[in-house]
Amino acid sequence: MMMLTKKMIEIRGLLQTVGQSDSLTLPSIVVIGSQSSGKSSVLEAIVGHEFLPKGHNMVTRRPIELTLVNTPDAQAEYGEFPALGLGKLTDFSQIQRTLTDLNLAVPASDCVSDDPIQLRIHSPNVPDLSLIDLPGYIQVVGRDQPPELKERISQLCEKYIRAPNVILAISAADVDLANSTALRASRKVDPRGERTIGVITKMDLVEPERAVSLLNDKKYALRLGYVGVVCRVPAGAGSGKLFHRGSGNIQSAIAKNENAYFSSHPEFAAEEQLDVGTRNLKKKLMHVLEHTMAASLKTTSEAIQRELAEATYEFKVQYNERPLSAESYLAESLDSFKHSFRGFTESFGRREVRELLKHELDQQVLNLLAQRYWNRPLDDLSPPFPETDPLSSLAKADPEGEDSIWKIKLDSSSAALTKLGVGRLATSVVANALQRNVEYLIASSRFAAHPFARQAITEASTAILKDLSYDISDELEICIKPYKYRIDLEDNEWAKGRENVTAVLKEELKVAEAASKRLEEVMGGRKKVKDVMSFIDRVRSGQVVLEGDGVGGAGGFSQALLSKGREAVFLRDRVDVLKLRILAVKSKQCATKKNKYHCPEVFLDAVADKLTTTADLFLDAELLSKFYYQLPRELDARLGRGLSQDEIDRFAREDPKIKRHLDVVRRKDLLEHVLKEMEGLRQLEAREKRAVSRR
Ligand code: GDP
Repeated sequence: MMMLTKKMIEIRGLLQTVGQSDSLTLPSIVVIGSQSSGKSSVLEAIVGHEFLPKGHNMVTRRPIELTLVNTPDAQAEYGEFPALGLGKLTDFSQIQRTLTDLNLAVPASDCVSDDPIQLRIHSPNVPDLSLIDLPGYIQVVGRDQPPELKERISQLCEKYIRAPNVILAISAADVDLANSTALRASRKVDPRGERTIGVITKMDLVEPERAVSLLNDKKYALRLGYVGVVCRVPAGAGSGKLFHRGSGNIQSAIAKNENAYFSSHPEFAAEEQLDVGTRNLKKKLMHVLEHTMAASLKTTSEAIQRELAEATYEFKVQYNERPLSAESYLAESLDSFKHSFRGFTESFGRREVRELLKHELDQQVLNLLAQRYWNRPLDDLSPPFPETDPLSSLAKADPEGEDSIWKIKLDSSSAALTKLGVGRLATSVVANALQRNVEYLIASSRFAAHPFARQAITEASTAILKDLSYDISDELEICIKPYKYRIDLEDNEWAKGRENVTAVLKEELKVAEAASKRLEEVMGGRKKVKDVMSFIDRVRSGQVVLEGDGVGGAGGFSQALLSKGREAVFLRDRVDVLKLRILAVKSKQCATKKNKYHCPEVFLDAVADKLTTTADLFLDAELLSKFYYQLPRELDARLGRGLSQDEIDRFAREDPKIKRHLDVVRRKDLLEHVLKEMEGLRQLEAREKRAVSRR
């Protein structure tokens, strides 16, 4: 029927994807032989290409699980390393190089490894076969090889030649069969010679009579018999100098050479029962494997049934039979993220934008005040804040006068505020806050464990915000343009500004006092700080003259202490100023907008408030609502429809918990599928048997 092997090989491929356990191993043909017995030549004759590593330095160090797949309707011949993802390799010299590299990757000190290399070869010229090539037995250990190497190779081979595998024992005709390591090893595990095929290579190297007698060997009789071959590649076919390696199929060249040899010696024709030639060997391998597969159907089915029972149990106990697929996991995760995003959009609206912006502009107002009003040493000509009476000089000034310095100061400060680039500043403050919140939502979502999705969402959000911000900041700048020229305040706006700025100044005072306190601790106590500060004050007022710049210290204080001292002086002055200005703002003077020149704090706060009101309205309508609309759609595109099956799988498997769950589900589904296939094969097999017995 010759389809069982093909089916079983497919099943093996499936089982390999779920990490088959030993009990699921389907029978293979295991190739053993001493080094130079012609083992590689036999395998290459079967495949029709030179593809195995060549060289003297023990080039086969790992088992090669070679699966041959017959593709009758295809022209192309190619190899694949499923574990490497190199794709289809049509150049067999590249397969050879890859195999050499994979083998040489085993350190010379180890020499062999039992980690198999999987290679699948598809071709119309190969039969469906599953072969395992093993390192050749060695007689003597080389100087640079570990002494236990001989033993290690034997152990490795022993592991593979267990039942139900078929053993292909290779021996060279020019070596006494009694000395054949391959036959000796196989006899150990298969004493009755039931599952060993003997291959005698290099038949052309001995006299034909002797060759014939080898094939009729009765000392170790094999039920499956001996096959004699001549697998040398004739010069000029493939490996010869005329052709370059790996080109062309060498099958027919070998067959021609072999046929010529056997037919030119009547000794071979004389014995009808003799089995010679690579072609016959191939046929035999196919038949034997097919029968072995058929015989193992029952035990393999049972093994799969046991594995399935285990997987089903795990699915039930660990996962409560909860179905899961990579797609459903992604869809649920995305839904729940969108749900939490919706929750966020309801909690972050115009009011929140307003708070953010006002806080930002409060800081800008404080900076302006510090730069333009609170800087020390105080202006001698018209000190704005005399230490004795904070209000006296403001009272004396003529604030209504057209060129009053106070009017100029306030106008320029207000212009500085309105021309700050509020459009860009406000947009970026809100966009940054949105981005931060998206990051926070990701971190507290299922996507936290998925670097791929994290990045996709972050990128989606950044891209949308960047896109929107560009136009919005320009448009917002246009909205606030009128304030750059004229600002009219209502009484209630003034009152509100006064109230707000008092709170801002108080907060700032607290911050400055806390910083002073920390500095005091760092500098070594209040007294020390006082001493340093009074020294700095004396330097400032010219009572003490510093030599140099005070580099290296001065007045008995180190340079580091002096620089901290300057910070302390700055903070002390800032605290003094803030206290004075809080008093001023609270005073009756600042109760009305008529005295705005006396009360720059109140005025600038009111301006900041106007800017905020314009900006929050605009940003709410333009940035927030557009972002809230676009992000979920962009996520659908990036994480929903836009992903390939592979990407979805990779995504879901990033989370180890989900990976385990998915693995169990997949294993269970696959085993169920395989078991069904196996049942089908068993029924077919039984029908065939009945048909044969009826005949
Ligand atoms: P391995 O080490 O067992 O894989 O042996 P190889 O397949 O590399 O063969 C060892 C040497 O024997 C190579 O030089 C082959 O060309 C040569 N050889 C293999 N088979 C035959 C054969 O049937 N006849 C002759 N004359 N030489 C052969």
